[in-house]
Parts: sequence; structure tokens; C-alpha cells
Amino acid sequence: MDIYLATGNAHKLQEFQEIFRAAGVTAHLHGAGELGGMPQVEENGKTFAENARIKAAALLEKAPLDAWVLADDSGLQVDALGGAPGVYSARYAGAHGGDLGNTQKLLRELKDISDEERGAQFACHLCFMNARGDEYFFEGVCRGRIARELSGQGGFGYDPVFIPEGFGKSFAELDGAQKNALSHRGKAAQKLADFLAGRA
Ligand code: IMP
Repeated sequence: MDIYLATGNAHKLQEFQEIFRAAGVTAHLHGAGELGGMPQVEENGKTFAENARIKAAALLEKAPLDAWVLADDSGLQVDALGGAPGVYSARYAGAHGGDLGNTQKLLRELKDISDEERGAQFACHLCFMNARGDEYFFEGVCRGRIARELSGQGGFGYDPVFIPEGFGKSFAELDGAQKNALSHRGKAAQKLADFLAGRA
């Protein structure tokens, strides 16, 4: 089975490849680059699942007819901010803010929030579809809290300020395998891997 991942984010492709390898999934996971790149889409869904579906449908138009497409949409939901930045996680500090700008804005917003009230979660929704009209959704959540400063060099996005529950380290201080075992994307991908194993 050939699966094309609907993202231009090399970190995400690597994470999915590692998760699938660890789960014994034999499908070939390809980057959108092999199809000429991820098409520009407007992620204007109100939920992660809607946005995942928009991305998957856009790449499906470029994919070989017998292939499957996998898209993820994910983000950070902070309790003290009523679930923000949520679907706006990638552009929290504006279109050109980037990971560091987003993270710094988050720390500013939470400046006066006590340690007890800094709870947050990452959520990930996957959409897995093909040109025959098959469509499946999977989700994963990882609870944690937002640190007061950045630490660690690994990962991407808000990783340097996200401390997963039960850990004293940020996502950016964990190695790839450790992060995948706990992460929202790891959990959602594991559900997909179980689904694929059931079909094999
Ligand atoms: P997406 O690429 O549209 O799913 O946007 C997700 C955004 O949420 C990213 O740009 C990051 O800001 C954030 N995000 C999602 N997953 C993670 C993660 O595993 N670590 C850190 N940030 C993440």
C-alpha cells in the first residue's frame, strides 16, 4: 500500500515514518514532495478534523489513483486560554510569526498564570482517504502543561514549552522515540496502525 502524507513539514513526515516503523506497518509512506509538493490550501475548518480532511482531499487530486492519502491537523489547546490557540496554533503570532514567535506569544499570554493553571493538551486528528471514497478519522490527545521558558533543541512548534504529563522535561528535550510514544500524533498514528494491521 502506498500512502502519501499531506504535509510540507519534514518533521511530521519523519515522525510518522518512525511511528509506522515502530508499529510494524509495512505500507510505504511518501512525502507530498514526491507529488510535486503539498498544494496550497486554506485551512478554514472550525475543527482539526475538518482541516485534516481539507488537506487530504487537496493532495488526493495529485495522488496515483490506487494510493491512499493521510493528512493530520494538530494544535495546542491551553486550558487558561479557553482552548486557544487550537486550530490557529500554526499562525498564533500571525502568518509570519513562525514557531518562535508563536511560542513567545504564548509565554506572554500566560505570564500571570500560576503553575497550577498552566494545563494544556496537544490534539491531533488524522484523515485517511482514497479515491474510491473511503474515508477514516483517528484522533490522539496528549495532556501536559506549559513551562515558563523554552528548553531543549528537538522537535518543532511549541515543543520547547510543552511538558508532557508525568515528565519533568519538555517535548523538545525528548528523543523522537520518546516523544512518539506519548504524543498526540503518536497516539492517533497508533490507532491508524492498528486499523491497517486489522486490514492486512
Ligand atoms: P498543522 O500543521 O496545521 O497541523 O499545524 C499544527 C501547529 O500546531 C504547528 O505549526 C505547531 O505550532 C503546533 N503543533 C502541532 N503538533 C505539534 C507538536 O508535536 N509539537 C509542537 N507543536 C505542534
